[in-house]
This record gives sequence, C-alpha cells and structure tokens, in this order.
Amino acid sequence: MTAPRIDTDTDTLRRLPKAVLHDHLDGGLRPATVVELAGEAGHTLPTTDPDELAAWYFEAANSGDLVRYIATFEHTLAVMQTREGLLRTAEEYVLDLAADGVVYGEVRYAPELMLNGELTLPEVVETVQEGLAAGMAKAAAAGTPVRVGTLLCGMRMFDRVREAADLAVAFRDAGVVGFDIAGAEDGFPPADHLDAFEHLRRESVPFTIHAGEAHGLPSIHQAVQVCGAQRIGHGVRLTDDIVDGKLGRLAGWVRDRRIALEMCPTSNLQTGAATSIAEHPITALKDLGFRVTLNTDNRLVSGTTMTREMALLVEEAGWGVEDLRTVTVNALKSAFIPFDERTALIEDVVLPGYATAL
Ligand SMILES: [Zn+2]
Repeated sequence: MTAPRIDTDTDTLRRLPKAVLHDHLDGGLRPATVVELAGEAGHTLPTTDPDELAAWYFEAANSGDLVRYIATFEHTLAVMQTREGLLRTAEEYVLDLAADGVVYGEVRYAPELMLNGELTLPEVVETVQEGLAAGMAKAAAAGTPVRVGTLLCGMRMFDRVREAADLAVAFRDAGVVGFDIAGAEDGFPPADHLDAFEHLRRESVPFTIHAGEAHGLPSIHQAVQVCGAQRIGHGVRLTDDIVDGKLGRLAGWVRDRRIALEMCPTSNLQTGAATSIAEHPITALKDLGFRVTLNTDNRLVSGTTMTREMALLVEEAGWGVEDLRTVTVNALKSAFIPFDERTALIEDVVLPGYATAL
C-alpha cells in the first residue's frame, strides 16, 4: 500500500492536475444542457428535471451490460445534431474538465452519429473544434488552462469506420490527435476494420481501440498485435492473461512495450466489466508496472468526474497521492500530442502540482 494517503474531504483532489485520455463527448453533457437543447429540438426525454435526468442516467447505465449502457446515449446524441448543439456541448465539455482540475484531455466522439441535422462529416468536426477552442480560450482566461485534443471514432458495428479514419487524417493539423473505434465490442472484433488501421499507420496517425471491456483476450490481442493499437480502451480483461502475478505473452507484451491501458473504474462497474472499485484490476495492474491511466469514460452517463474516480480509488482501493501522480504522468506519457508538449506538461504543470500535495 502506498503512503501517504490523501484527504478526500477537502478539495485537494479537485485541485490536483489531471490528465484524461478516455472520455466521450456524447457521454459527458451537462444534464441541464440536455434538457434545454432537447426542448428546442422537440426531443422527448425520460424527465425534464436536470437532477432527475442525471439520476436516470446513472440508474439506466447501471444495467451490467455494455449494450444497454450504450443505448442511453440516444438522448445526448439527439441534441448534438446541429451546429448550435455541438458548439455548446463542446465548449461546456472543456469548461467542465477545467473545473475538474484536468490540464490535458483527449475527447472522443463518432462524427457519423451527428448527421441527422444539417451538418456534413467535415462540418461536424469543424464545429466541435470551434466549440473546443472557445472552451479552451475561456478556461485559459479564467486561470484554469486545459489543452484538449480530439480522437475521432468509427462505430465498429457500422460500415463507416474507414471514412472516419480518413477524416482523422484530414483533420490531423486542425486539432484531431488520434483515432478509436467505439460501440458494441462483442461480435465486432477490431480486425474487421484492419484496412482503416493500416491506413492510419501508413499516415502516421496514432490510435487506440476499445478492447477487453465486454470481450476478453482475443479482442485485446487483435487490437494490439493485428491492428497495431498504441493504447487500449479499458483492457480490464488483460487480467485473464495473468496468473498469480505471472504474465502471459500478451500481458507481457502490453506491459513491456508500455502500451497504455485507459481504465475507467465506475464505467466498468456499470457495464459489468468489473465487480467493485476495491477489486478493480487498475490497482493490480498498476502495481505490476503496467502503464495504467485513470479515466471517466462518460461523465454524465456514469455520474462521475476525474476527482470522483480519484476519491473512489483513495477511499476503496487504498491509493495514495503518489499513485494518483503515477497515473497522471502515465496518461501524459501516452497522450497522442507531440513528445515535447507532453514533457512540458509533466514537468511544468503536473509534477509541481503534486509536489505541493505531497
Ligand atoms: Zn469508452
């Protein structure tokens, strides 16, 4: 167990500099914004009370099933089909990260899910970038600067993944820093989209892949060894390849090649990928030297923040402030922005921020 423990009763945790690599734009809207925009769009919600809506999300997402968890996104996506909706949700996304103490974030979303209104695929990306830029300008002006890079997602169960990959290449100099595939994992293996990943590799665009969340080792193996993912979304099932602390070949490869695991404890409890915070593999994998990172996945849907995820690990899994620093530095080491920018964030922002807490 790592000492010293940190007091979670104060807002010490909130002030600690944080980095989040795995957070979905359409899973992190403010409840009040969903209510307001749904009213304007004529979309019917389960309730029009923001607090009740937040509770409904948490309840609905607590099904223990990834497919049902994903189904709750219907109501956020309904308000993300217009320029106005995208600008507002992207700007608020950045401001909410800043308020959570995040100094570097990677936001991900699938542009193909935002085509029910008047926007084309490139217009969706341009509009989100405009909203993110507005949010970053406001956060910096408020004295809480946060840098946000974008990962574009293709939906693995549909046939537009290659198109999304082309979009990531096209917008690589306009704020898009990488790529992912999202959606139901079971039945939709990463290698189904090998052409997209090969294209990204040829174009030198980094990517992560959701794997080892609803499906086990074969999914992680394909993501890493067949598709060439530089990071893994979740990867909780990697523990299937570790027996009594001894690593199998795949687990050894992931640890030794420093392939980051984007772990999302609360989300994993809700989808049934983990049974408790205390027993969540993030702690064991961290202690075994994996490049573990801590993430929110979907802040509205899972009713969480980075501060809350940190508090849960401190209170229920015995984490100390050094562990929180480790996962933050890990995230920046594996971020998809250039090496010099990552190093500057670690040395100038993260390490000094934790030094005052230690
Ligand atoms: Zn995710």
